[in-house]
Amino acid sequence: MRIGTGFDVHKLDDNRKLILGGVEIPFSKGLEGHSDGDVVIHAIIDSLLGAAGLGDIGKYFPSTDKKYKGINSISLLVSTLEIITVAGWTIGNIDVTIIAQYPKVSTFIELIKTTLSTSLNIKSELINIKATTTDELGFIGQGKGIACQSVALIQ
Ligand code: ZN
Repeated sequence: MRIGTGFDVHKLDDNRKLILGGVEIPFSKGLEGHSDGDVVIHAIIDSLLGAAGLGDIGKYFPSTDKKYKGINSISLLVSTLEIITVAGWTIGNIDVTIIAQYPKVSTFIELIKTTLSTSLNIKSELINIKATTTDELGFIGQGKGIACQSVALIQ
């Protein structure tokens, strides 16, 4: 068994959809990024690649590559699953913490779990999603961005 961690931050901006864990969350702002800005999936990808000792998201899906512009991060997650599967790994479990002051994401956790577990072809109980705030401190607390961390165990 091996473990890996992932961490990502994106800036919140007007005129963007807010996509977290492959789920569109109703909010006045969304996350900036070359792709759809899905911090949750990006953190999970880095934790899976980290556990497998295969580098990071930028190695496989560089933001300088035009083909990833505006891409749905679910497709990056599915590609990552293929990469670690080819390398001989299966997912043990994934534990995720979404760090956002606004909006309240707790009501979307079950839908995010279902979406991610379907994409990764694993039981939803193997994915745990938590949501926390920074108590109005710092850039997250001021609503300027959203962060996410992920820990993955593979075997
Ligand atoms: Zn990202």
